[in-house]
Formats: sequence, C-alpha cells, structure tokens
Amino acid sequence: MIRETFPVGLLACNCTILGDEVSRDAIVIDPGYDIPEILTKLAAHQLTVRQILITHAHIDHIAGALELKRITGAPILYSKEDLPQLAIMDQQAAWLGVETPQVRPPDHSPADNETISIRGLEGKVIHTPGHTQGSLCLHIPSQNLLLAGDTLFAGGVGRTDFPGGDQDTLFASIRDRLLSLPDQTIVVPGHGEETTLATERASNPFVLYLTGKGRV
Ligand SMILES: [Zn+2]
Repeated sequence: MIRETFPVGLLACNCTILGDEVSRDAIVIDPGYDIPEILTKLAAHQLTVRQILITHAHIDHIAGALELKRITGAPILYSKEDLPQLAIMDQQAAWLGVETPQVRPPDHSPADNETISIRGLEGKVIHTPGHTQGSLCLHIPSQNLLLAGDTLFAGGVGRTDFPGGDQDTLFASIRDRLLSLPDQTIVVPGHGEETTLATERASNPFVLYLTGKGRV
C-alpha cells in the first residue's frame, strides 16, 4: 500500500492518500485544503482517485472535497449525520476567518461497519460520534491502520465544545469502538503526530480514564 499523510490548510488537518501499488487506485481522506499539492502527490505515484472520504464535516477536513471531486470525478463519502455542520459552514468559516467553501451533501453516507474498497485495498467504516454527530474513522485491518479523524489524538481526544459535539458520546465511541482494536494499530489522527493504540492505552490521560486507570 502507498500512504502519504501530510498537513493541509490553516489548521494543519492531516490529509491522507491511500493507494494500491498494482491497480493504482486511491482513496483520499480529508482533503481540507491544498488540492494542488494533493494532486501533485497523486500524480507522483500515478494514482487515480476513486473515493473521497471525509471523517467529519468540519471546514478544515471538508473544504477542498468538492474541488477534488470536480477534478477527479470521485464520489464524496461522509456521514449524513453531519449535515447540520453544512448548515453552519459560514459560521465555521467565520471562526477561521476564511471564505465559506462550497460544500454539498455526501454522494454516499457509509453505514457503520460498511466496507469501503478500491481495487487492492479494503477498509471498514467505524461510526464514532462525539466530536461531531457524524464523525467516523476508517480502519484498514490488513495494514493495522486507523484513520481516526478528530476522535482520538496522540495524547488527547477531540474537542466537544463545538456545535454537535458531546463528550459522553465521544468517550463511548473511543471506549466501545476504538479500544477494541489491536494494540499495534497505527493511529493517524486528524491533526498532529501519528501514534499507536498501545501508546495511547499506556499514556493518553483520557484513555487511561476510560479504562479505569486514571482520571482526567
Ligand atoms: Zn474537527
């Protein structure tokens, strides 16, 4: 598998390109901004985008999706539970001090546990509401890889003080859906450094709290 993870936009959202070496098909996760840079990386690997997956409809993760779709023809996938986030996109843009991006409802809203696949690569969607109503993660078991969006970070968890956020829901998502994955799972969060579930189990204060080993 080809993987490139790199920060895009003002808030340094981690955009990830996953590609298959044989089919040259690719999936792009969270193309928030910097579409020219994303296209350059795709071209360097001779990859064709087949799917665009958005972990949640916050501006820094979704702003570039429509432009990437227009250029590549790939469908945009994210949870319809995040449609309320679209309704406040101008508010999100005002917080950031940027222009309101064009956004559209998803071409497809993946169900919990739905398999997302391109030729040569298969992942599973895990619904993890809490940071937003429709936040989701993508798990690629064959690569021990979890694209965690803004649900779980190295040393932290997603904030829940934006509209649609809820801490109890976020904690339940992490405890019930993510902590059941294997220790060696590589976690690529929506911002900042990569980590592993083993590391987070051992040192993330929120995870320690959720597993009864510490308090926040
Ligand atoms: Zn977010």
